Amino acid sequence: MNATIENTILKKENEAFLRRRHQHYINGEWVDGVSGERIDVLDPATGRVITTVSGGVAEDVNKAVAAARVAFESGEWRAVTGFQRGQLLHKLADRLEELGDEFAELEALDCGKPVTYARAVDISLTARVYAYQSGWASKIAGETLSPTVPGEYHAYTLREPIGVVGAITPWNFPMLLTAMKLAPLLAAGCTAVLKPSELTPLSTLRLIEVIEEVGFPRGVVNVVTGYGYLAGAALAEHEDVDKISFTGSGATGRRVLAAAGKNFKRVTLELGGKSPMIVFPDADLERAIPGLAAAIFFHQGQVCTAGSRLYVHKSIHDQVIEGIVEQTTKLKIGHGLDPSTTMGPMVSADQLEKVLRYVDDGRRGGAETITGGGRIGTDGFFMSPTVLVNTDDRMTVNREEIFGPVLCAQSFTNDDLSAVVASANDTDFGLAASGWSRDLSVAHKVAQKLRAGSVWINAHNILDPALPFGGFKQSGWGREQGSEAIRMFTEVKTVCAAL
Ligand code: NAD
Repeated sequence: MNATIENTILKKENEAFLRRRHQHYINGEWVDGVSGERIDVLDPATGRVITTVSGGVAEDVNKAVAAARVAFESGEWRAVTGFQRGQLLHKLADRLEELGDEFAELEALDCGKPVTYARAVDISLTARVYAYQSGWASKIAGETLSPTVPGEYHAYTLREPIGVVGAITPWNFPMLLTAMKLAPLLAAGCTAVLKPSELTPLSTLRLIEVIEEVGFPRGVVNVVTGYGYLAGAALAEHEDVDKISFTGSGATGRRVLAAAGKNFKRVTLELGGKSPMIVFPDADLERAIPGLAAAIFFHQGQVCTAGSRLYVHKSIHDQVIEGIVEQTTKLKIGHGLDPSTTMGPMVSADQLEKVLRYVDDGRRGGAETITGGGRIGTDGFFMSPTVLVNTDDRMTVNREEIFGPVLCAQSFTNDDLSAVVASANDTDFGLAASGWSRDLSVAHKVAQKLRAGSVWINAHNILDPALPFGGFKQSGWGREQGSEAIRMFTEVKTVCAAL
């Protein structure tokens, strides 16, 4: 493992970016925070401070919301047509793709993800989200309706932008998760105040420079950095915010929901998951084994849809587990900026400790550690890829979201798929799931029965701008991506004229 890359030479643009004094971005200007507090931003591969950002408080949020309100109500933004909004979004997508290497490096440094994955997933997929939603901007329309009352009427609906949106995002995929909110809300004609995670705020600040460059009017997109309990909470409870689009943990989601009740603002919640993967005896194991390993170890398992619970038919259990363990030996663990790295560190010391606690808890509960289970090195926050077997549905490791590289496996024997599906569904979460079988009938039956917002067949973690994404049960409210995302940022107005 090469965790410390002492002599990493960053792109000169990123060197310069890190040296900048990072401020809030409000009404088209970079401004210092009211409190003067600075928050350290760490490189999780070394634990060292790489820069600082402003610690926003309620007064900063008030200013940002006021700017977003003015831009929404009276600014030039209202005069920008849907088609033009689409053009701006497409320009943004193109520019992000052009700057892809630079953004990937920044995201790798800030989040600890392998730079090659950051380039392919975080940045290219992000650019595709903006490009995809750019197409919807010119196609937002209502319906013509037929009232039931006697008489002559002409009735129709309009789909109007919801207004000022507070977008609160977590640390695992800053660029992508911001895009999943910002692209459709801009397509719909809303304005925004972004509140990125205090752990990984950098790419959102750099994104603003590109948003400015492509020509979005002032006040349309604002950013307040800072802690969730201050800046995030102030945004969630702000009475002039029309909607909160939140991605993060269930615990914070509950707080956001309670705060949003103050003015009944609209709320979308993208929360945690504990996604099951069911492997049937006829599965194509050459395809399944690397797919299952990637499903849990991609981005160190810090993925809301990570395939963290594995159900394997007893007849192939040992073969599948051995295969997954072998896959872990191929992972190259190291600093995300090393292009050969395929697994980076956990995002923070707290996250590493939390994951280690879960592993201990699983062991004490009777799970067996087949591989991994511990910290790697003392620099940075590295955790070994871990496989626990003999877990069961009652264990905490199988019930709570670990958000780390820990696979909890168990076998099933019953050939009737209802029993294993019932186990897979025995969870508070419902974000994603996958079924692995060559039998089309089995695969589609499982897809019908699994209670999850996304079900993948012979694959896992397929996220696409065209495919609606969101959770059943405690994994969330509402959907992002696809045309569903536009619905989440529009209100329906009914117009009825007596003729
Ligand atoms: P978190 O809930 O701790 O924080 C998320 C965001 O909320 C951060 O910006 C944080 O500053 C802010 N926040 C914290 N307290 C707040 C408050 N009181 N009011 C308003 N905002 C507040 O989550 P995290 O640790 O950053 O991210 C990990 C979680 O995110 C996991 O549970 C993961 O499953 C979830 N997640 C879900 C999805 C999805 O699409 N469903 C995607 C990625 C991550």
